Amino acid sequence: MAKLNKKDFNEKIFSRINSVISDYRLIEENEIIAIALSGGKDSVLTLHALKKYQEIMDFDLIAISVDEGIAGYRSHGINAAVQNAKDLNVELIQKSFKEEEDFDLDDIYMNFKSACIPCGVFRRNILNKTAYEIGASKIATGHNLDDEIQSFLMSFARGDTIKFSKYGPKLDVIHPKLIPRIKPLWNTPEKDVGTWAILNDINIHLDECPYSYLSLRAKIKEFLNVNEDIHPGFKENIMKSFNNILTFDDDISPNLNECLKCGEPTSSNICKACEIKESLNPEINR
Ligand code: SF4
Repeated sequence: MAKLNKKDFNEKIFSRINSVISDYRLIEENEIIAIALSGGKDSVLTLHALKKYQEIMDFDLIAISVDEGIAGYRSHGINAAVQNAKDLNVELIQKSFKEEEDFDLDDIYMNFKSACIPCGVFRRNILNKTAYEIGASKIATGHNLDDEIQSFLMSFARGDTIKFSKYGPKLDVIHPKLIPRIKPLWNTPEKDVGTWAILNDINIHLDECPYSYLSLRAKIKEFLNVNEDIHPGFKENIMKSFNNILTFDDDISPNLNECLKCGEPTSSNICKACEIKESLNPEINR
């Protein structure tokens, strides 16, 4: 196999990301963009790419990390987030489940079929609240092409077609308190992200979350990777099919209200975070 040239590879990966940002108008002049920075390779590449994009466009960038409270795992990611934010001179706001909710994920995960359920609910909630408080108009996430295909198949398998509204590089504003997501790595394959991190010797968090093996996402990821090895182009074909089925003009977003308990946007009367806290109340002794 030909040896990869670092300069060419970097040019290719950053120009693809820049095209997504400009083609889909992910960022506007003078906006504040919050970036969800876990310290994993995808969020770290997103941080580097947006920092570079500031050479093209004038906007503010603030990183937010959320420590879910997973012993022996998350602190390594936070260290990588701190280091990369410092190296790139980007402000980092550090949040945690413990400070915001008074429990760690490790304290409550056993009450759920998968730890990813409360993890995702509270992480999204904290990210959204923090981004809203700092006046950010968008939250940039590190979702790559593989994540996007996995998410689509998960929604498909669950019959949760409302989630299809989360598909695509840019989500619409559907409620003033729900900060829309942008995904600059939307068409970047996961293996390219890994190659970028290795070629450039970037400090990233590589460990697997100890809870990930229980998730539907992990099973779908394995299915996709196994079939991609046997039938090259498998993932790309699925992505093409999705793009043909859905147009980003389809309005399938849910109508949102404000949670009667905490005021956060929700499609029900009570948001998922409040619902979970209520069900956990006796155990977390609040
Ligand atoms: Fe949270 Fe699941 Fe991701 Fe672990 S794998 S960090 S539990 S969402």
